[in-house]
This record gives sequence, C-alpha cells and structure tokens, in this order.
Amino acid sequence: MVKKVVIANRGEIAVRIIRSCREMGIVSVALFSDADRMSKHVMLADEAYYIGPAPSSESYLKIDKIIETALACGADAVHPGYGFLSENTEFARKCEAAGITFIGPRAETIERMGDKISARRSMIEAGVPVVPGIERKLESVEEAARVCREIGFPVILKAASGGGGKGMRLIRCESDVEEAYTTARSEALSSFGDETVYIEKYIEEPHHIEFQILGDKYGNVIHLYDRECSIQRRHQKVVEESPSPFITPELRQKMGQTAVAAAKAVDYVGAGTIEFLVDKDYNYYFLEMNTRLQVEHPVTEEVLGLDLVKEQIYIASGEPLHLKQSDIVQRRHSIECRVCAEDADNNFMPSPGLINQVTEPNGLGVRVDSYVYEGYEIPIYYDPMVAKLIVWATTREYAIERMRAALDEYKITGIKTNISYLNAIMHTPDFVRGGYDTAFLEKNDEIISRYRKENQPGDTDEGLVEDMTMIAALVNWVMLEEGTIGTPIPQPTGTLNRWREFGKRKGMTGI
Ligand code: ADP
Repeated sequence: MVKKVVIANRGEIAVRIIRSCREMGIVSVALFSDADRMSKHVMLADEAYYIGPAPSSESYLKIDKIIETALACGADAVHPGYGFLSENTEFARKCEAAGITFIGPRAETIERMGDKISARRSMIEAGVPVVPGIERKLESVEEAARVCREIGFPVILKAASGGGGKGMRLIRCESDVEEAYTTARSEALSSFGDETVYIEKYIEEPHHIEFQILGDKYGNVIHLYDRECSIQRRHQKVVEESPSPFITPELRQKMGQTAVAAAKAVDYVGAGTIEFLVDKDYNYYFLEMNTRLQVEHPVTEEVLGLDLVKEQIYIASGEPLHLKQSDIVQRRHSIECRVCAEDADNNFMPSPGLINQVTEPNGLGVRVDSYVYEGYEIPIYYDPMVAKLIVWATTREYAIERMRAALDEYKITGIKTNISYLNAIMHTPDFVRGGYDTAFLEKNDEIISRYRKENQPGDTDEGLVEDMTMIAALVNWVMLEEGTIGTPIPQPTGTLNRWREFGKRKGMTGI
C-alpha cells in the first residue's frame, strides 16, 4: 500500500484527495505556487512544499520540480487530480522511472487514448461504435473540404490533442471550411502544442453520456454506470447528474458493457471515463476516453456510495478490484453544479478577487467540494471553479428540490458567481422534464435570463444585502457587548472573528 502521496494539483480536487488520504492513514503532501500560499489544500495537507511562481507553466506543470520534491520528501506516489499533468505521458513515465507510483493508468494508455485519432482507431478495432469520421490527420484545406463532402455537412473539426472544448469548429457548409480549418489549427497549436486536426460527423442535438470504469492490474474491469453531462456551455460541462434521465435501462446495460469492452481493449488500469454521444434515436457513439478522475466523479460516488479516490489508490497499490459488477447498483439520484467565480451577466467573465463571506449549504444529502473560505483571495491564474455543489436524493425529483434549496442557501459575496444562473437551470421546465440535450443552454437562454431577473437579485445587490445583514449583526453584537441591550450572550469565537474581520475590512474601529 502506498504510504505518502504528493498531490500534483491545487483547489478543490487537491482538498478532495487529501481527505481520502487522511481516512486511509496515508500521509498527504501539498504543492503550492506563489499564488497559493494561503490555499486550503496547503493548510489541510500533512506537509506542503513550494514549487514556483504563480503561472502554472512555472509551478503545477513543472514535471522535474514536482518529481524532485516528491523524492526529497520521501513520497512513494503522486496523485495528479484532473487537468494540469493528469494526462501527461511524460509525467507518468518520469514518475515511474523515479520509482514513484503514478496514481493513474500506464503511460502507454494515456498516450494511446490522449490522442483522439489513435483512440478512435483503438475503439474501431475493439468493435466499439465511434462517431462517423476519419482516423487520420488532415493535411490541407482541400483535403478538409473533400472529407466534409464525403461525410456530409454538418461536420465538426476537432483537435487530436483537444480538451476543454478547445480547437473545435462546427462546419455547416463548404464556404465555412477554410476559416474553420485555419482557426481550429492555430487554436490547437496554441492550446496543446499540436496542430493536428481531424473531422467527425456533427451529431445534431446529442446527449453527452459517459460511463465511469475501474480496471485493476489483473485485467478485471467493471463499470460504475452513467453520468449525464449534456448541460454544457461552449462544450464545457456546467451541471451533471446520474443516472441519465434520457437513456432506457436496456440501453444503460448495453452502453455499460461497451464501456467495459472499450477499457479492456486498451488493458485499462485505474479509474477512467468512456464518453459517448447519444443521438435522438438512441444510437450511441464513442466520443473520447478520459484517463483520469473527472470533475463530475462525485455524482457517481453519491449514487453508489463509493470513494473513487480510494479505489484509485487501492488499484495503484496493486490490489485487485474488491467490487464485482453485480455489487454495483444505482440506488440514488445525484446532481452536481459547478460553482464558478464568473459574471453570468457579462459573458461569464472570470471574477477572481477577495471573498467577503461564504455561507455553504448543508444538511441531508448535500455535499460541497470546495477550497475557498472567507478572506481568501481567488487568484487570477487558475480555473474559475471555486466549488462543486453535489446533492443526492432517492428520486430525481427530490434531488432537484434539494439542489434548489441548497443553491438558495449558498452565499458567496465579494466576487461574482454563477449561483443564480445554476438555480435558474434547476427551475427550467426542460431540465425538470429531463431528456435535455447538449443544446439545452442555448435553447433555454431566454427562460434562464427571465427567471434570474424575476426571482433572483443580481450578485451586486446580493452582496449589498449580505453587507447590510452583517452590519446589523455587528451593531447588535456591539450593543450586547456594551450592555446597551440585554445581557451579553457568549458567542462562538468563529462568528465573532468573522464580524471583527468584517468590521476591520469596512474600516470600523474599536472592535
Ligand atoms: P473535449 O475533449 O475538448 O472536451 P470532446 O470530444 O469531449 O472534447 O467533446 C466535448 C463536447 O463537444 C461534447 O460533449 C459535445 O457537446 C460536443 N461534441 C464533440 N464532438 C461532437 C460531435 N461529433 N457532434 C456533436 N457534438 C460534439
């Protein structure tokens, strides 16, 4: 069993991994950049080491520095989380070469599945249905135009090394080919250092439905069922749920078996995700494989009552899977909302900065995977996601009700967040009905805006209201202290500190 794990990441996922390590009696080691000295993962870990300046290219992506730190502190494993180096073949190889266990699949698997063209080839060989398209690199605009005609418009041009929805262009007619080809290639080069692009048929209004799988070092593979991830903005997931409200029980079983076959075809070891697109007629196609933990993994955990990080650590330590396929039963419904420091009224511009107040929701079936706290300054350098709000309930209907209530309770002031936008999604009739597709946010834009206007004050107003409440609470407390009203009631120190801090920030003296 691994004994000491370096977490080569930051934010909520670093906190998430540290928590599982602690439960397992494994020593956790945080790494931090200049911008993260005050981050929660640094405070929570058993040990923490500085690795460089704020830009991730100078810290969280510095392979040699991270390995050097892991060796120096005597760690025997590295958990890469998601993003950063989690799908970097060189990192996985160098960890193994240094005698450090990389908590993830083998480097060859990352390489094979990380390139979307070679992943498509592997899946076709394994008999897995893939989105119609080509399995080679496009060499010229002329070739792109020819392939588009062969496949038939609309098509989608994609970067072979793509991720995060970047390097993708929808082409609806021949006159769009040249511009799409040029811009997709340059975006791919600047984002991934690889300008290789290829073409797939564009599936109209598809559902993004993915299957979580687990494979051990002895060839055993199981799937942990599905996650519906069709609520997307610019091809990036915003809300996820499990089970999918769209697929039938029969299709679910069939897709699960395909996911296992896909993972077995590449001798998959660890936790991974097979992403599918499902069309209106319930045909499903392999989209890509993510060879790491997903942002949305908690919905699977909540439905099944499992800890995926623990499973990853057991597998990496060489243990055989302790669960059989027949042990995996979807007992509950779970929804996740990605809470981001973004201005929903201003094209979702990132809104980093100082957090004045955080009130996280709580109660039965409510989980917050977060890393921010009052007085914390969100750095400008990294992803704007500050927390994931996850709920579970016995039915989808109850899960939606619980999510609405939890979002109502969630208050973050000082920065702009998308909380009211997420709440509007939860009240949109198409979402409540289920069966929505990846065009949901576009189709419901007006309904969402109207709902927000009618039911939720803007973030600025909300901030003001929070401030007013805090001032009233502070005045009340000062009066209690002075004996102006009643007898002082002993207050929890945390609360007093918060008021004092608040008062100081607002320039109040004598507190
Ligand atoms: P990335 O790796 O950048 O996340 P994916 O290949 O996973 O890219 O696709 C992300 C999203 O883009 C999908 O969930 C879907 O909404 C859309 N998409 C990708 N390929 C297609 C396609 N062939 N047809 C329709 N939509 C697609």
